[in-house]
Amino acid sequence: MDLYETYAALGVGKPVYDYCAGIEDALQERFAQIDRVAEHNQMKVLAAMQKNRVNATHFAATNGYGYNDDGRDNLERVYADTFHTEAALVRPQITCGTHALAVALSANLRPGDELLSPVGRPYDTLEEVIGIRESVGSLREYGVTYRQVELLPGSKFDYEGIRAAINDRTKLVTIQRSKGYQTRKTFSVAEIGELIAFVKSVKPDVICMVDNCYGEFVETVEPSDVGADMVVGSLIKNPGGGLAPIGGYICGTKACVEQCAYRLSAPGLGQEVGANLGLMQSFYQGFFLAPTVVAGALKGAIFAANVYEKLGFPVVPDSTESRHDIIQAVTLGSPEGVIAFCKGIQAAAPVDSYVTPEPWAMPGYDAPVIMAAGAFVQGSSIELSADGPIREPYAVYFQGGLTWYHAKLGILLSLQKLAEAGLVKL
Ligand SMILES: *Cc1c(COP(=O)(O)O)cnc(C)c1O
Repeated sequence: MDLYETYAALGVGKPVYDYCAGIEDALQERFAQIDRVAEHNQMKVLAAMQKNRVNATHFAATNGYGYNDDGRDNLERVYADTFHTEAALVRPQITCGTHALAVALSANLRPGDELLSPVGRPYDTLEEVIGIRESVGSLREYGVTYRQVELLPGSKFDYEGIRAAINDRTKLVTIQRSKGYQTRKTFSVAEIGELIAFVKSVKPDVICMVDNCYGEFVETVEPSDVGADMVVGSLIKNPGGGLAPIGGYICGTKACVEQCAYRLSAPGLGQEVGANLGLMQSFYQGFFLAPTVVAGALKGAIFAANVYEKLGFPVVPDSTESRHDIIQAVTLGSPEGVIAFCKGIQAAAPVDSYVTPEPWAMPGYDAPVIMAAGAFVQGSSIELSADGPIREPYAVYFQGGLTWYHAKLGILLSLQKLAEAGLVKL
């Protein structure tokens, strides 16, 4: 059977198929580069697993207090060795990325300390953790103050502003790698390294934490390779490889991770408790698969950028830029465009492909939001998903895809829906 026929059976028309085939052909060199990064990272993870002699006993479920949980303790060594840190905390008790970041911050800050973001405003959910927006239980309620230095035009670091902002109370510097849903660019690991070196030259004992969400395995190095004291992220994003059903990680210096463990469980208990509840196989196997899963998601993002940019839609990052996370923004310019795009992503899903996404008023947003996802793990954004607020400039944020082929189908069907709505001409 001809490959096109398999796509036709899923609803892709010939003009869309042919147009996208041309785009794909032109991307072979970029895809090869992504594969080389994935190969490098696959070997890094394998080396960490072999060094720590992973074996079937590490997949055994524990319950209750989880004392002497070898599988859990060994997984933490595997993460630490992969990220080249002294220690790691990798737990299903960390419920999401925001929780991991909240633990890392609140564990390492004390009343009277100041937290500094030298990269402008942090991810939305962090605003409440920090207390930028008033919130019950925020760091601010505990007497931790916050300061932020805006980025200069071109997403450049304002070194003089940062120097001026660092004072004798500055205890921790938080650096968000991914742009998240902002318009600034995502920082490369090398840029983060330069920023950390500068911060440490001003104040050597300051703790540098990197919010690594969406960035893991996109490059061959991680922020912990360039001086970060802690790197923090979610297991239902990149490092869970699509298999982890929950969880977060904090890798870093022994001193920082110890503080985090006491904060996550309780003072005096620390890393010794926390049963794995039978999740270890999915954590190990997901981490093993993560480099190739991230490669598939990256190919999807670059493919989408090229497909849509060449049709005249603004895309961030653009079709040729180097990548430092897996998020792709496409500005479709109309509510109908955002809705059609999301319908295509939904129609491509392995789960819930038959439902139609609709915009709705979500708490915390000032415009209706449409979301498309048909995921094995609820809310997982390493799985193919798209969302966008129904407001100017009518941009959709697209990410994930456990395999490149699935991401490709999602983009083909998004374009098909736009074509059917008369919003593009091929
Ligand atoms: C997703 C994300 C978070 C928060 O993670 P959740 O799992 O959604 O709580 C924080 N920072 C960045 C940059 C993210 O992408």
